[in-house]
Amino acid sequence: MDERTTDNQAPRILVVDDNAMNRDLLVRRLARQGFAMDTASGGLEALEKVAKNSYDLVLLDINMPDLDGISVLSQVRETKDQSELPIIMVSARDASDSIAEAINKGANDYITKPVDFPVAQARIRTQLDVLQTHKKLKESEERYALAFRGANDGLWDWDIQNGRVYFSQRWKDMLGYGQEEFGNQPDDWFNLVHPEEVERLKLAVENHLLGQSDALEHEYRALHKDGTFRWLLTRGVASRGADGQAVRLSGSQTDVTRTKAYDPITSIPNKFLFMDRLEWLLDKERRKRRGRYAVLLIHIDRLDELRQTLGPVAGEEIIINAAYRLIDSLRVEDSVSRLFEAEATTVSRHDEADFAVLAEGCRDESTAPKIAERLRQAITKPMEVAGENLVLTASMGIVAGAMEEGLDATEVIAHAASALSRARRKGPGNYELFDKHMQQRAIARLKMETDLRRAVADGQLALHYQPIVKLDSGEIAGCEALARWRHPERGNIPPAEFIPLAEETGLIDLIGDWVLEEACTQHQKWSDGRADKVDLSVNFSLLQMQRDGVEDRVMDILNKTGMDPRRLKIEITESIFMEDMDRIKGILSALNDEGIGIAIDDYGTGYSSLSYLKRLPITHLKIDRSFIGDVSSDIAAQAIVQSTLLMAQSLGIEVVAEGIETIDQEALLKVLKAEYGQGYHFWRPISGDDFAALLTRPAHP
Ligand code: C2E
Ligand code: MG
Ligand code: MG
Repeated sequence: MDERTTDNQAPRILVVDDNAMNRDLLVRRLARQGFAMDTASGGLEALEKVAKNSYDLVLLDINMPDLDGISVLSQVRETKDQSELPIIMVSARDASDSIAEAINKGANDYITKPVDFPVAQARIRTQLDVLQTHKKLKESEERYALAFRGANDGLWDWDIQNGRVYFSQRWKDMLGYGQEEFGNQPDDWFNLVHPEEVERLKLAVENHLLGQSDALEHEYRALHKDGTFRWLLTRGVASRGADGQAVRLSGSQTDVTRTKAYDPITSIPNKFLFMDRLEWLLDKERRKRRGRYAVLLIHIDRLDELRQTLGPVAGEEIIINAAYRLIDSLRVEDSVSRLFEAEATTVSRHDEADFAVLAEGCRDESTAPKIAERLRQAITKPMEVAGENLVLTASMGIVAGAMEEGLDATEVIAHAASALSRARRKGPGNYELFDKHMQQRAIARLKMETDLRRAVADGQLALHYQPIVKLDSGEIAGCEALARWRHPERGNIPPAEFIPLAEETGLIDLIGDWVLEEACTQHQKWSDGRADKVDLSVNFSLLQMQRDGVEDRVMDILNKTGMDPRRLKIEITESIFMEDMDRIKGILSALNDEGIGIAIDDYGTGYSSLSYLKRLPITHLKIDRSFIGDVSSDIAAQAIVQSTLLMAQSLGIEVVAEGIETIDQEALLKVLKAEYGQGYHFWRPISGDDFAALLTRPAHP
């Protein structure tokens, strides 16, 4: 009759009711069903009995004069929860409010008066079944806990009915959490599971709860408190009530990260082993605080594309080939690799198309780029896959680290990843070295770029003009326009800082046009009504000269402002002669044909060559101020200045000495017969208005 055969003792039920007739009725009928019965005639007596004896279930009347059923329930629940002692409330049929309250306070179920006996019996049996399951589970759990005490497993126990999960301390340890740091909800667990794997885990749990699997056994990654993912294996079994419904799910959890140390495709170490190795290295070495290492993240470019055209099998073959090439190129036995000056290397597969290399014991900072170069050579050798001849390229992010920096593995990898993404932005086959200030600089640059765009529109750019003096007479022959940026927060930013930025960002066209137009407009104001017109020099950067149709742009601006082309000189640096000579010659000749002068700026610092001076329409040379600075003290500098002057004379080119700062320099240059001078000794760059005022004054001494 009683199905709960495992329990040879009859279940003990306490009936609590102040009405003797109700009490006796229940006791008699339930006793006939084989239950061991006891009674209490009021709330207080019930509490006493529950405290003293052990019952399997309580039938508790709600309305009682001394202490009502709800109060009894609340007090019992302070020491015994629903799974330890089921309590079924007995109430009047229309007392739904108190029933709701009782359920909230921990009643397991209820029956109404007059009691429908078969219903009551069914409810009692259900509760006793659940209780029985809990008891058994608890025993096995204790056995289980015993068996695994000191072992590596963590335990968990999920009460499906109340939705709470008990996680053992060992379980929490595996993910780096202390006793109090972890909740008891299923989501506290699932939230740590790798986003790509959480749905699969939930599905496995659900399937098992629905009885579709004999046991839960699932591997997944979960986030450790230290920010790395660990591989965990979780096993569990559900306990079910008589109806087959799962009431509890409990099991163990093991950290299996170690067993996951190798990539299944290439058989080389995976990310976990790599990180482990790196952690170990940094840890051990950190104590010693010296030595160098390198970490390289290597991304095989276009792998997805190749996989799509050649198929997944070829995709795998590419990965395997790439892996072995990386390893081979780093083999220490081969004599060439001694070049890279590292003691040991680890190559791992880090992600789908990404490998990582760790080189320990590097000789110096240059080792990392040397390794990168070797790896690049290895990867780019032609490779035959699926009958196709391929040439792979790889992008790399490199960290050349020193132990004393005290970084941990996660930081190092993050740095390598940021260098890699920078490299990839430059296009396939590039590599980038991470340095500490890279990020700060990148951010600062980005801000400056935004500011520079605004600067043009907001009129923050201005021109200053530095007079150019005829040395023998001291009169002002012209001036050079120099760009200035009055930044609202940072003050004046020198052109050496923002012109290169403008070039990199393409803003140079806009800025160059503005400079030329502004300078020409200014020149028109100075020249109004004057017979002795001055020359105007404007700097052009290499990129500006390479712009398509630069001749037309210049002429457009001259026409628009009414500037006389014969008064304009364009200053370019020697770097321009590294470019396509025919094209440059075409551009310079077109400008010169209009009467525009062409000056070589900073002469002597770059690729000075006589041949281009002869081949191109150069009208002026500006000797770099580094030679002028030394001219009165250094014989060699003097010789260079002198020979430049002689050569220029013979070619009919006029010379400007830049950066004259002292009266000695001026005197000497006069002796050497330099024609023009420019420098702080005469004037610093000044505003357009100040320059206009100068023109009306008597000449410099
Ligand atoms: P640069 O064309 O060689 O200009 C001469 C630089 O030397 C100017 O610096 C000037 O202020 C400085 N200088 C002049 N005399 C002396 C002196 O006696 N002693 C010293 N120590 N320095 C002197 P600035 O204005 O900072 O310009 C730097 C460079 O920026 C220029 O060199 C030029 O290459 C570039 N630049 C300036 N404005 C423009 C522009 O509008 N467009 C382009 N593309 N480049 C510009
Ligand atoms: Mg210049
Ligand atoms: Mg210069």
